[in-house]
Amino acid sequence: MNKRTALVTGANKGIGKHIARLLAAEGLTVYVGSRDPGRGQRAVEEIGAGARPLVLDVSDPDGIAQAAAQVDRLDVLVNNAGISLSLAPPAGTGVEEFRRTYETNVFGVVAVTNAFLPALSRSPRPRIVNISSGTASLTWSTNPNPQFTPGSGGAAAYRSSKAALNALTVLYAQTLAHDGFKVNALAPGLRATDLTPGAAAAGGDPAEAAQGALRLALLPDDGPTGGFFSWDGTPVPW
Ligand code: NDP
Repeated sequence: MNKRTALVTGANKGIGKHIARLLAAEGLTVYVGSRDPGRGQRAVEEIGAGARPLVLDVSDPDGIAQAAAQVDRLDVLVNNAGISLSLAPPAGTGVEEFRRTYETNVFGVVAVTNAFLPALSRSPRPRIVNISSGTASLTWSTNPNPQFTPGSGGAAAYRSSKAALNALTVLYAQTLAHDGFKVNALAPGLRATDLTPGAAAAGGDPAEAAQGALRLALLPDDGPTGGFFSWDGTPVPW
């Protein structure tokens, strides 16, 4: 049997790099998605055996098509690339911030997923993991940042983009269930990365969050699909 392959978008740093490292350690060939070739190459060298560079800007349709043309079969797609531009509530957020945020966090996921579906369909056990956020939950939050607690209304563009990603997770899961796909969303928990400046004290280790992504990436045939899970496997309410 061919070696299993995975693609992690935005894997040149942060949680994505940890996910790529864990998948490579499991013996998969891992395409380390990075919009910057130099940053991607450095991550590949750091991860070592099994890692391959793949230049991929999730907001660039032509680039996505070129990247997809390089991958024949894909077993695991981790839609990890994401941005957060401010903590502002909706009334203090311009449409342009919503547009930019959705471009990466929502439209980017659709574009990448659709482009790689033919390669995923060649896998006997295709898995898609969408890196969402607990802050997308309309009813629940363990995030210690008061900007993110339910009812606070902060980070409106980011949180609503991840809520849209959650909806898409369910829709993809429903559409692809008959072809053996498992499509799930992960809430990694607050992690100290470049996305969360100032969270170094409150944010946990991003490597820990990657364990949750690994579990969803390697789900057995009787595993869940269309779910939203915390990094430790606990279901998160929508
Ligand atoms: P980082 O900022 O450390 O990493 C984000 C990654 O996404 C980088 O590799 C970045 O690339 C990449 N990226 C951004 N835009 C694009 C694009 N257009 N095309 C390709 N890659 C892109 O953040 P995290 O590791 O924290 O975030 C990873 C995921 O986890 C995100 O989806 C985020 O929303 C989610 N998350 C993070 C939490 C946290 O507390 N850190 C909590 C909840 C969810 P580049 O280096 O080129 O900018």
